[in-house]
Amino acid sequence: MTTNTKYIFVTGGVTSSLGKGIIAASLAKLLQAQGYTVTIQKLDPYINVDPGTLNPYEHGECYVTEDGAETDLDLGHYERFLNVPTSQANNVTTGRIYQSVIQKEREGKFLGKTVQVVPHITDEIKRRVQILGKSGDYDIVITEIGGTVGDIESLPYIEAVRQLRWDLGEHNGIVIHLTLVPYLSAAGELKTKPTQHSVKTLMESGVQADILVCRTEHNLPKDLRRKLALFCNVTADSVIQSIDASTIYDVPNLMLKEGLDKVVLKKLALESTKPELKTWNKFVHRYKNPKTEINIGLIGKYVELQDSYKSILEAFIHAGAANEVKVNVESVHSEYLNDENAALMLGHLDGVLVAPGFGERGIEGKISAVKYVRENNIPFLGICLGMQMAVIEFARNVLNLSNANSTEMDPDTLHPVIDLMEEQKTIKNKGGTMRLGAWDCALMPDSKVEKIYNTEYISERHRHRYEFNSDYRYQIEKGGMQATGLNPKTDLVEIVEISEHPWFIGVQYHPEYKSTVANPHPLFVGFVKAALKHKNSK
Ligand code: GLN
Repeated sequence: MTTNTKYIFVTGGVTSSLGKGIIAASLAKLLQAQGYTVTIQKLDPYINVDPGTLNPYEHGECYVTEDGAETDLDLGHYERFLNVPTSQANNVTTGRIYQSVIQKEREGKFLGKTVQVVPHITDEIKRRVQILGKSGDYDIVITEIGGTVGDIESLPYIEAVRQLRWDLGEHNGIVIHLTLVPYLSAAGELKTKPTQHSVKTLMESGVQADILVCRTEHNLPKDLRRKLALFCNVTADSVIQSIDASTIYDVPNLMLKEGLDKVVLKKLALESTKPELKTWNKFVHRYKNPKTEINIGLIGKYVELQDSYKSILEAFIHAGAANEVKVNVESVHSEYLNDENAALMLGHLDGVLVAPGFGERGIEGKISAVKYVRENNIPFLGICLGMQMAVIEFARNVLNLSNANSTEMDPDTLHPVIDLMEEQKTIKNKGGTMRLGAWDCALMPDSKVEKIYNTEYISERHRHRYEFNSDYRYQIEKGGMQATGLNPKTDLVEIVEISEHPWFIGVQYHPEYKSTVANPHPLFVGFVKAALKHKNSK
């Protein structure tokens, strides 16, 4: 139980996409490795109540927490680095802030006062920031403010930080400002001006940065650091360089080398020791020194964008390191895939993962992919929509239930092998109304999944509206596809597998959300192992 929680605010300047989330997660890792309990929170300045209603093209993957919050993908990094679950309290948007303030106003809780951005919205931001701190579970809370300083939308957040720093007092709240020091190749020079301006913009809102973390493509020389310190009112040891890294998993060690943890702890008046990073470093070593490589196909419809399947790609990195294998993930656009070209597009792969997704676009290609890997004994992992496609493919091509489908794609199908869940039928609102968060699942003794997980009961995170239609269970099992994971309360089918196939598993949940550096997910580890075996048998 901690009574004096310290707060670190991370703001961003100059441009977006500098990797505030990775810096926050890396710092948290270093503090955790010195025995502090740490959590990270992300404040997002957009008006959506959560990113659940955002297209992955807009905002990347939607990450789901144990308690069923649909959140920003940065929370995935926090969990993967820290191996500690996050929750709804770890991600707050402007939409959510306004929603609670407006609800209070409707309930008459403001006693006739005019409700304003300051103090009502800023008070709500401050309250949300302190929920985690007041739980007593954390020595340190790192709050990442989304967006870039100077944006209209982030102003109330910066104002809340200004007030909070004042309320918390010296050594209890500090600000790390992440900026860019660009290199002008024509001039052959690194430029500090954008950082100076960005720190100035922050100061116009009354917030002095304590530490600067500067993204750069080249090492920052001493005199440049001194110049930045002088112009930006920070001590010389508070100018930290964050040089481009070949992997995000190098960033904690790069920050350690720069002494970010030390200067942070000094400013918070906390003791610093040598971080214990044995497990972490072992992982990094294995990741960077693979013994062999495999090619996995990722079949989806958002394949142009790295961030759309973030957690899946990271889970492959963890599982690859566990197997000492480099996993090359080859994106295959499901819209361009069909029964005729499947051999050409997928024949060389050692394993195929059919991705989660929503809506009709690209699903016939996913079904063709499943058919090809099922018939050709290529290891297969289907996640959520990917599992549903496996069931549809089996119904159509093995059970000859022609036009079997999910009612999501064809509401009038004769064979709705995937159907809307009973409790979903009356729901009208789209936001936050799916089956979300962690649910228990009982594994069938002697099934593949029971061997892979090496336990009988698991809990995994969900995000879907449709499910395996149990009316077809008998027929499907008789045909050779087994339901090997069931919800112990409702008997909902959560996992299907084909025992005749070397490795064919579909899961209704999202195993990728739970894979971390310290705990690579068993299904991904097993899948990579199976793909390696497939490769070696060729
Ligand atoms: N669209 C499917 C459903 O709602 C699958 C969702 C997913 O893949 N996350 O059930």
